[in-house]
Amino acid sequence: MSKYLCDLTWSDVSDYLVGRKDIILPFGSVEEHGYHLPLSTDGDIAIKISEGISDLTDIIYAPLVWYGVSNSTVSYAGTIMVDFSSLMIFAASLFNSIKNNGFKKIYLISGHLSGSEISALKEAGRRCTDLEIYMLDYSLLSFDDIMESERYHACELETSLMLYLYPNKVDLKKAVDEEIIVDKYAVNGLSKTKSGVWGSPTRATKEKGKYIYQHIVNEFSAYI
Ligand SMILES: [Zn+2]
Repeated sequence: MSKYLCDLTWSDVSDYLVGRKDIILPFGSVEEHGYHLPLSTDGDIAIKISEGISDLTDIIYAPLVWYGVSNSTVSYAGTIMVDFSSLMIFAASLFNSIKNNGFKKIYLISGHLSGSEISALKEAGRRCTDLEIYMLDYSLLSFDDIMESERYHACELETSLMLYLYPNKVDLKKAVDEEIIVDKYAVNGLSKTKSGVWGSPTRATKEKGKYIYQHIVNEFSAYI
């Protein structure tokens, strides 16, 4: 039976809370991912990771929060973002509402692993008392055994995940590899690539995506 919060009735949730107090809350973004992936990529991946963990652990998962902090891609058409403080205040309010329902543990899944996004969610978590919050950040997992290139943006890793999870959303013929030069000391001197890709999506395969997805879901399910 689905453990997607919005498919349940209030009495289903009430019954669940008698036995356990944990919930998964996914975050995405609406931002450019090159010529070959849709703006929904981060959210799409976070939803599937949440579903996969829920299937293995029977934990409820909440609907995804689509808008995030996307400072480094905001100059591309289609990227729609909220700023750091807005996300932090919104997330803190959401965490409190979840707590008021009777939940005591929130597992955050972010498909959009920008530094500002993660910092905003962590800061929101610090403002909530009587609640355990965990950031299941898949950028902390290693995929060196299967990846042939570095993990950046719209890269081999994200493209492989999308090829496995949503093959109809990927147009691999349009994928291009690009490198970005970043001034690591610049506060706001963000570099751009022409395509919006930073990495090597042409090395992506469905098989790599399956391996990476299963590794993420198994690792986080074991942690929970
Ligand atoms: Zn992404």
